[in-house]
Amino acid sequence: MQKNDRIRLKIEDMSVDGEGIGKLEGFTFFVKDAVIGDTVDAKIMKMKKHYGYARLMEIVESSKVRREPGCACARQCGGCQLQAMDYEAQLDFKAKKIQNHLIRIGGLEGIEKPEVMGMENPWRYRNKAQFPFGADRDGRTVTGFYAAHSHAIIPCMDCRLGTEENQEILEKVLSHMEKYHIPAYEEKTGTGLLRHVLTRKGFATGEIMVCLVLNGKSLKAADELAKSLQEIPGMTSILINVNMKNTNVILGTELIPVWGQEYITDCIRDVWYQISPLSFYQVNPVQTEKLYDTVLEYAGLTGHETVWDLYCGIGTISLFLAKKAGKVYGVEIVPEAIADAGRNAEMNGTENVEFFVGKAEEVLPKLYEEEGIHADVIVVDPPRKGCDQAALETMVKMQPERIVYVSCDSATLARDLKYLCGEGYEVRKVKGCDMFAWTVHVETIVLIQKKTS
Ligand code: SAH
Repeated sequence: MQKNDRIRLKIEDMSVDGEGIGKLEGFTFFVKDAVIGDTVDAKIMKMKKHYGYARLMEIVESSKVRREPGCACARQCGGCQLQAMDYEAQLDFKAKKIQNHLIRIGGLEGIEKPEVMGMENPWRYRNKAQFPFGADRDGRTVTGFYAAHSHAIIPCMDCRLGTEENQEILEKVLSHMEKYHIPAYEEKTGTGLLRHVLTRKGFATGEIMVCLVLNGKSLKAADELAKSLQEIPGMTSILINVNMKNTNVILGTELIPVWGQEYITDCIRDVWYQISPLSFYQVNPVQTEKLYDTVLEYAGLTGHETVWDLYCGIGTISLFLAKKAGKVYGVEIVPEAIADAGRNAEMNGTENVEFFVGKAEEVLPKLYEEEGIHADVIVVDPPRKGCDQAALETMVKMQPERIVYVSCDSATLARDLKYLCGEGYEVRKVKGCDMFAWTVHVETIVLIQKKTS
């Protein structure tokens, strides 16, 4: 078998990245856009020693769980990987992914397929979007989404995961750029001005933020664009973010207000939050409620406990827990997020919280050595790379009764659980929460408890 050969495959499994997996003559093939249960004709694109990659050419027999993608550009766009898969089947895929990681990477025994909490209506759930701007082959300015594993822009202004207002915002920005001949940023040369448009919406309040990420500090006739954007109901905050570095990181650190407030407000259950552009905020508000409810349940608070909330962002989980705890301490690396967290505590009249800026792996060991801090419960919600070893070691030294681990990457979660389970802890409960429908990503919540025997 070699490149360009056409092969017929029965798709029997799915990779963690969402490709269909089929076997032929001892080789394993990965086929993007193929779904478990399909029989497909595919063209070999790349051969390795024991496996290969093939391109879906034709569906010979459609899987029972195959569905029409909800978005016209689903195949080109790198954002979603599972749009051709029935929603229930997706949840099952995610449950298996969590289970596999915990068993294979975590070395854990007796892990069953966890429940994954799904959405009733899994569309238009994202409260945040970041649209790259660039030029197409004819030199016209376009915006949309990056193709998979590439920075080629697929023009698409209405992502069905995002809010309906995004399209109008982008149209207004594009027509402003055309009118004033404002060039989009070009990655290769580092020239041009507009890099990205970031939008955020508070689903509970309807407040909208638009942040223009520039390779510079000002935009021609910015006031005129701001005026036009204000016609969109809910517009609350318009800002420029300065990013003049040649980097893949979307946002720079400098913010210049253009119009309105420098933040938006939102509410999860009965806790209010102020969110600035540089702060992390969960992107799926409907599922965030379920996620935080589960964290609260696993934390098992009775009103007296001391809780540490590591990687706390704008203090979302901290404030949720504070109602049921004696005292909550939050630790977060982004100073703007901690500034938000402080304001959020004040806004909610929560007095039993305290926040620290810094890396969890530095702040926690330092406070433990110098002040002998104590915790009954530790909650962690780290980025994809998981917890740093120094943070994990201090957590173990602090000997909390319970650890609640919230993770957006079950592979690094499994690695960290392996360590904790070797240090006197055991996994008691595991639940998934589908924060990112139609993509391969899944959030996992784990209750880890001190071993009793
Ligand atoms: N628990 C919060 C935020 C979770 S996202 C919520 O639910 O909203 C993870 C957060 O960890 C981000 O805010 C990120 O800025 C922060 N972070 C990343 N690396 C960190 C580190 N080494 N130490 C502390 N915080 C970190």
